[in-house]
Formats: sequence, C-alpha cells, structure tokens
Amino acid sequence: MNTPEKHSRRNFLQHSLLGTLGLSIASTAEVTAQPAAQSADPEITQEIDVLVVGGGTAGHIAAIQAARAGAKTLLIERGAQLGGTMTTGGVAYPGLFDAWGKQVIAGIGWELVKESVELDSGSLPDFSKVPQRHFHNQVFINQFLYAILAEEKCEKAGVQIAYYEFPQAVTKTEHGWQVDCIGFGTKRRVLCKQLIDCTGGAEVVGLLGLPRLREDERQPGSFLYMMGKAHEPGRNQIHRLYVHGADSTNSRTVTAANLTGRKSILAELRKKGQRLMHLQPETGFRESYRIQGETLITVNDYRTGKKFDDAICYAFYPIDLHTKNGIKPEPLKPGIIPTVPLRALIPKGSRNIIVAGRSVSSDRLANSGLRVQSSCMGMGQAAGAAAALAVKSNTTPLEVPLKEIHDLLRTHGAIIPGDV
Ligand SMILES: Cc1cc2nc3c(=O)[nH]c(=O)nc-3n(C[C@H](O)[C@H](O)[C@H](O)COP(=O)(O)OP(=O)(O)OC[C@H]3O[C@@H](n4cnc5c(N)ncnc54)[C@H](O)[C@@H]3O)c2cc1C
Repeated sequence: MNTPEKHSRRNFLQHSLLGTLGLSIASTAEVTAQPAAQSADPEITQEIDVLVVGGGTAGHIAAIQAARAGAKTLLIERGAQLGGTMTTGGVAYPGLFDAWGKQVIAGIGWELVKESVELDSGSLPDFSKVPQRHFHNQVFINQFLYAILAEEKCEKAGVQIAYYEFPQAVTKTEHGWQVDCIGFGTKRRVLCKQLIDCTGGAEVVGLLGLPRLREDERQPGSFLYMMGKAHEPGRNQIHRLYVHGADSTNSRTVTAANLTGRKSILAELRKKGQRLMHLQPETGFRESYRIQGETLITVNDYRTGKKFDDAICYAFYPIDLHTKNGIKPEPLKPGIIPTVPLRALIPKGSRNIIVAGRSVSSDRLANSGLRVQSSCMGMGQAAGAAAALAVKSNTTPLEVPLKEIHDLLRTHGAIIPGDV
C-alpha cells in the first residue's frame, strides 16, 4: 500500500541514494570564477580616471556612461550586487520615464530597464497614454535579472567592479584624489582624477567634510517581503513594512533598522500563521543626507517645472512625502515636467567631485519627487558624462562646456530637457 509515509520514505531513500552518487540537486550547473590578477595581495594601489562610489540606481549608470566615454572607471560597492534600492532594497518598479503622453527620461538606465523586461517576457507601459494614476506607468522589473544584466553592461563598457569595499579616507592630490578603501582581506588605494558619489547618502561628500543637509525627522524606510503567497519577480508589487525612524547614517543605525524590520515581520508571521515566501536582505531608505550644491532645487522649482539653464535631465513624479500618517502624493499640474540642473550635482565650492541620485541638492519636498529611480538614473548618466569629459580636458565637471555633456548624453540615448 502506498501510504503518504511510505511515499516520503521512498523519496528520502531516493534522495539519499542520488546524494551518494552526487546527483541529489535537481539542477546543478558549474562555472569557474576567474580571480583578478594579484587577487591574494592584501594591499593594492591602482590609478584610474573615474571612481564611482556606490553601485546603486544612479551609480552603475554613472560608471557605464563614464567607461563608454573612454574613462578608465572603477565602481566600488559595499554590497554584493548592483542596483541598490532597486535590487537589494527590492523596490523593483522604476518610475517614471514618461510625462504627459511622451517619454522624457531614457538613456542607459532605460536601455537596461527595457532589456531586462524584454528578457523576462514582461510588458512595458504605453507612454503615449497619460495614466489615470501616476504609478500605472511604473515599470515592473525582475530585480534578480536586472542586477545580473547591470553587471554584464558594466563588463561590456569596461567598468571594473569591486564589491564589499567602501572608502575610509579621501585626500586631495595634485591630479585629483587619493581614496583609501577597505574590504575584507583588501586595502585598496585608488588614485583617480574624478570622483562620483552615488552612495544615496552623499557619504564621500561627508568624508570630505563638505556640507550636507538632513532633516531631524526623516521619511520612514521600508522592509519589502512577501507573506502567504509567492512573489513573482517582475510581475507584482510586494508587501512593505514601514520602518519608522530608519536611519541610513552608519552600520549601527542600519543594523537597528534591519533588526526592527525583521522582528516585526516575524511577529506578523506568527500572528497570521502564514509562510514567509520572500524577504529582501535589508531595509530600503527613502531619505538620507542631501548635498548642499552649487544650486538647490526648491519645491517651487519642482512644482513649476523650472527649466534650469544647465538642465541635464528631466524628472517626473508627484511630490511624495511619506510620514507617520502615510502619504498623500501631490501630482504635478498638467504639462509640468521638472528638470535637474548640473549645479545641483556639484557640492558647493568643490572641484572634481560630482554626486548623483537621491542626495541631489534639493529641499525636502522637491527631493521627495526627485528621488525616484528614473531621475536617479538620468542624474547618474549625466554625472558619468561630465566626469569623463572633465578627465579628457583636464578640468572639473562644472567647467566642461554644457554642449559637450549634452552631446555625449544624446549619443548614449539620453533625453535632454527641450529635446521632447
Ligand atoms: C520603500 C521605497 C519605495 C520606493 N518606491 C519607489 C517607486 O515606486 N519608484 C521609484 O522609482 N522609486 C521609488 N523609491 C525611491 C528610489 O528607489 C530611491 O530613491 C533610489 O533608488 C535611490 O537611488 P540612489 O542611486 O540614490 O541610491 P541607492 O539605489 O540606494 O544606491 C546607493 C548604493 O550605494 C552603496 N553604498 C552606500 N554607501 C556606500 C559606501 N560608503 N561605499 C560603497 N558603497 C556604498 C549602497 O550599497 C547602494 O548600492 C522608493 C524607495 C523606497 C525606499
């Protein structure tokens, strides 16, 4: 008689037998990692053109653009993969690439988003239609696939990636910067001409002692997970737990946010008696330090769609401030498309350093709209272009003629304000 017990005993025996034959894992593929030259040396020094710190939403795009423009580029990321909040945070629905019936943000970020959706047999929104609600035109991406494709694009462009490392000290040199980075088993001294800070919290700017802005009360972070039903990447949104007080300042505050978030998910699981089907490895942070740039984007600039003289990309999203009482997005008025000026990426009074991503110089309300992924990608690409051109002409990003930056960006598919 085939009782369930007998079935499971037979399965167990089969697995054990296959195990001894080395066949127990259903699909085992094999590859061999190619170690880098001198990979056993604990200390290395390298000379490059552009160092990008932070391989998240803005950072990997900045690195690809800089490398495509011919700069010898190194990307340092303290985590284990590219994509930052999009992938490790699990916020895998980038938006918004369109406004009022047309695409307004494109370039390298869009290239990657589109390729990942196509490879995943997903679907892209129809940008010729103005959606009823802004989030209808966010793109669902498969976070796992996106992170791998981003690595492939970096490799093709010639970007060197260094995971598990972060800068400890940054000093000015005659030709740029000396950046001392640390990873486990690795001390890396980088001599570079241009620095791009894409850490999401302007951490390099902070190391340099340049001014940063931050509110006493920040928007809540969120832990993303799925309970009770399976998560199908690239197809559905996942559950979010608000982590109030989440602070991305340092390893201790991030640890506190992670512990609090996971503990609460465990409590929910016990209460509901459901299975935990998906859990991101860390908290996603909505708000952190912003730079005080050569200019600051105000909420009035954002609301009125100010066309800055030195605009390098568009941004488009409602003003979207999360508070203890939830959110009440304030949509932009019909026809309004805000822009991001190059000067908002340059820390005030600095040379040879540029910032991209959510730490763009802006007031809190403007930042609540600017921080979304499409604009972070647009800023990342512009920062990569400006840094690479600055290397070529031995100057600083702000002194590169704007037309050169625009031309390079257009060559790589970007849309410059005024183009559409
Ligand atoms: C819960 C939540 C929901 C959101 N919803 C949406 C949405 O629906 N649509 C949307 O488009 N946007 C959304 N956003 C906003 C958006 O995801 C982020 O603002 C954006 O991804 C930030 O991009 P970034 O490049 O500035 O930072 P990140 O993507 O966070 O990248 C920063 C990277 O830098 C690395 N790093 C940090 N410090 C160092 C260091 N010292 N050395 C080396 N590496 C370092 C980090 O590990 C990370 O990989 C949401 C954000 C959150 C948290």
